[in-house]
Amino acid sequence: MFHVKQNSNLIPVVQCPICESNDLSLYMETKDYFYTQEDFTITKCNKCEFVFTNPVPKNLARYYETDEYLSHNTKDGGPIASLYSLLRSINIKRKYNLVSSFCKSGKILDIGSGSGELLNYFNTNSWETTGIEPNITARSFSKKEYSLDIYDEDKLDSLQPEYFDVISMWHVLEHVSNLNNRLMQVKRLIKENGTLIFALPNLNSPDANKYQKYWSALDVPRHLYHFTQKTFNKLLEKHDLKLIHAEPMKLDAYYVSMLSEKYKKNRFPLLTAIIGGYLSNFKARKNNNYSSMIFVVQKGK
Ligand SMILES: [Zn+2]
Repeated sequence: MFHVKQNSNLIPVVQCPICESNDLSLYMETKDYFYTQEDFTITKCNKCEFVFTNPVPKNLARYYETDEYLSHNTKDGGPIASLYSLLRSINIKRKYNLVSSFCKSGKILDIGSGSGELLNYFNTNSWETTGIEPNITARSFSKKEYSLDIYDEDKLDSLQPEYFDVISMWHVLEHVSNLNNRLMQVKRLIKENGTLIFALPNLNSPDANKYQKYWSALDVPRHLYHFTQKTFNKLLEKHDLKLIHAEPMKLDAYYVSMLSEKYKKNRFPLLTAIIGGYLSNFKARKNNNYSSMIFVVQKGK
């Protein structure tokens, strides 16, 4: 058995969150390049191949205490901030169109609603919207700016069962401390024929393979799980959920490449990222293994 680093501020994960095996081995050593520069290790389950951050800090909230992370800087300058802002507005329309293709209108719950731009877009298109956002600054902003109904995560247990037509988690599941519990919560809240949407970084993507420990979508310790399509499917099976559609988020390859280049201390991250993002998407076409994927999921086997 592989022994994880011992440190009183870190909690070792001794069982695979998906298959519960304790046959784990070291997958990678990396760093919190985004914020603290602290070292972290990532573990792989030898039985089901699930890859996850291990050990995990006791106080995870501390790793979100950077303004840059919370807002991804939409206002004040910098090429990364500007690009992120541009990608976000393109993404909102795209996400709306994707959701609408599975459900024309109804009640949507967005978990990890951030500063509320996406929910506001649904709201102005006659959807009934509810948001969950753990960050108090983002929560207050979206309430004030867009008059949205946004709650903290505790609210998930008291919302009405089988109420929502759509529940979305855009780049959220990889952050959630209790993975299995979160899936049970969304299963309780979704209607029988409702649609669950998960957007996740893809550990099997060409850019993950290229950047290895510098791959910015590892984002340790904020990302606790590093899914592939295969391991995500195993998680779904475990919860009697089924994948009905998978599609790429092609713009993520550019953003992820740029951040990864920055971590590698490339002085011209933008230029390299444009080429790298394009190449990643090009290579990913072969087996639909893009930098980030959107999975559309329903109840049933
Ligand atoms: Zn496992």
